[in-house]
Amino acid sequence: MRLRKVKGAKKKINSYKEFILDDQTNNPIDLETLFKQNQPVYLEIGIGKGKFIYEHAKNNPHINYLGIEKYTSVIVRALEKQLEEPLDNLYLIRTDAKDLNDLFKQNSFSRLYLNFSDPWPKNRHRKRRLTHKNFLKMYEKLLVKEAELHFKTDNIDLFEFSVEELEAYPMNMLYISRDYHSEYENEIVTTEFEKRFKKQGKKIHKLTAKFKEELNG
Ligand code: SAH
Repeated sequence: MRLRKVKGAKKKINSYKEFILDDQTNNPIDLETLFKQNQPVYLEIGIGKGKFIYEHAKNNPHINYLGIEKYTSVIVRALEKQLEEPLDNLYLIRTDAKDLNDLFKQNSFSRLYLNFSDPWPKNRHRKRRLTHKNFLKMYEKLLVKEAELHFKTDNIDLFEFSVEELEAYPMNMLYISRDYHSEYENEIVTTEFEKRFKKQGKKIHKLTAKFKEELNG
């Protein structure tokens, strides 16, 4: 993705601590103090400009939503949605997903969304893919038992890699579709990327999975 630097983005982010944190410390964060209501928290990693998470938060006030994004110039657009019509069940953090284990306690999140994650097509970069087993290990700690991982992408190579990686982990596949829009046309909350790809007639692939419970004895 081409990144355009947004002037004043950093300053803006630092001015609205009630909606967003620019994390540079990796100090642990207490989820209970971030949100007004104590209720399940769904995490989205790589929110981009925040269309998907904002709409979900608006439609589901009984769930708290935490959005993570690496780039200031992108996440500031999500902050602007919050400033226009604030939702108290949505909080944003500018940080890199690789640091999440330092930031949050185990069993913090009840669902994880990964939408149109960077494909990292070169084999030597495979560890950077957000569905690589090293990330799965991290998600397993962060998620409560029975939590679902929801993943959407237009990139078939990343999708097939992810299916293999999740099955090998092993995770349980609950849903796999290589043309998700043909099945759920009307109920889809799209992301920015998804809206664009849909217009172009591209197929969107989606999977939902769960970590397997440990077998005792
Ligand atoms: N989910 C949005 C954006 C997809 S592009 C949409 O579907 O429209 C992928 C996004 O993930 C980019 O904004 C990128 O900056 C972010 N991202 C990629 N790797 C990340 C990481 N390790 N930690 C946090 N954000 C990341």
